[in-house]
Amino acid sequence: MYEIMFLGGAKEVGRVGMLMFKEGSPIALFDYGMKPSNPPEYPIESPPVNSVFITHAHLDHSGLAPWLAARYAPSIYATPVTHEVGELLHRDAIKVASIEGYPIPYSNEEVDIYRSISMAYLNFGEDVELGEERVEVIPAGHIPGASMFRIITEHGIALFTGDLNTNDTHLVEGAKSSSADVVIIEGTYSGREHPDRREVEKMFLDAIEERVSKGGTVLVPAFAVGRSQEVLMILTKRGGYDVWYDGMGKQVSEIYLSHPSYLRDSKALRKALKEVNIVQLSSHRNKALKDGNVIVATSGMLEGGPALYYISKLKDDPKNAVYFTGYQVEGTNGRYLLDTGHINLQGVSMPVVADVKFFDFSAHAGHSELIDFIKKVNPERVIIFHSDNPEPLADDLRDIVSDVIVPDITLRIPLFP
Ligand SMILES: [Zn+2]
Ligand SMILES: [Zn+2]
Repeated sequence: MYEIMFLGGAKEVGRVGMLMFKEGSPIALFDYGMKPSNPPEYPIESPPVNSVFITHAHLDHSGLAPWLAARYAPSIYATPVTHEVGELLHRDAIKVASIEGYPIPYSNEEVDIYRSISMAYLNFGEDVELGEERVEVIPAGHIPGASMFRIITEHGIALFTGDLNTNDTHLVEGAKSSSADVVIIEGTYSGREHPDRREVEKMFLDAIEERVSKGGTVLVPAFAVGRSQEVLMILTKRGGYDVWYDGMGKQVSEIYLSHPSYLRDSKALRKALKEVNIVQLSSHRNKALKDGNVIVATSGMLEGGPALYYISKLKDDPKNAVYFTGYQVEGTNGRYLLDTGHINLQGVSMPVVADVKFFDFSAHAGHSELIDFIKKVNPERVIIFHSDNPEPLADDLRDIVSDVIVPDITLRIPLFP
């Protein structure tokens, strides 16, 4: 008999970990991440396990891979892009922890251990044998390298989606459905829909045009992983702007370009990166502020990174703007700015006169898209995780699937009906 248990990331977004048991013993762990809050929150401690599958690099899914490697030396399976971007994020998390002064449960040496003994590479379409079970890797949309895992057993097939996007974006194609008896699906957008993607892009470009035509500069705080590359592709496709790019996204872009098969259009990303000005020296920052029309910089939620420097210089002029392209989590500086019109700079709350707006460029399927995905898979059971508010999705799914489960963490449930 197969069972699963969430160690975190069930009725919450962040710190995902799902253990799979066979006849009572843990045989695999799917994702093991942290909630990248300040300080981070961690999942319940995993027992020793030989096989770990990481869906994608975002820290809420990959964040504790070095901890697992150093404790249990398991094989940690992921796509090459996920491993390489993940390693960058792990080392950055250590740096951020030391700046912010909170502990983090691994060191750079443990990231080295992860790299040298645990990283096992899997490309889309490949699979791994776990005794009598087989785990297949298929694309999840979301960000480059993001996977779903299809767990094939003698009792049935289970699909673990990780973070899922069924829409095409500039960076990756949307996920396709595949057959499964049980789907363990993320529910980030349970109860919420996205506006039409093309509309959002148009509104974003129109808003930028309005500012730039008046002589203003637009700061676009963007996540290093995925979103910043997309924003650059949108801006350079439109053309005509002097665009500057600053922060960790530069390194992530290089990893993406070294794995072109994981991109929808690697030529377009390469072209975008050639056309923008890359900030390499701190003197470039003043040049970006003086000459730039648009500055794309990390961090996406203004929780550090060069974006904070730029906002300190741009905030007092109403011609300028700060345009968010990602959801701003409760408790972050970006959320504070959206809610109050103020920003926290080195502990001091300052008013922002520049225009502030949020554009919904999500990399997650919206409510109806999650339901369409489930309709296509047509499973016997759905298990929802990765959601602050799973009930609206669970209610709508109950109309099409008789068996819908919204598990609590630490609860052990049979995987198959
Ligand atoms: Zn993600
Ligand atoms: Zn996630």
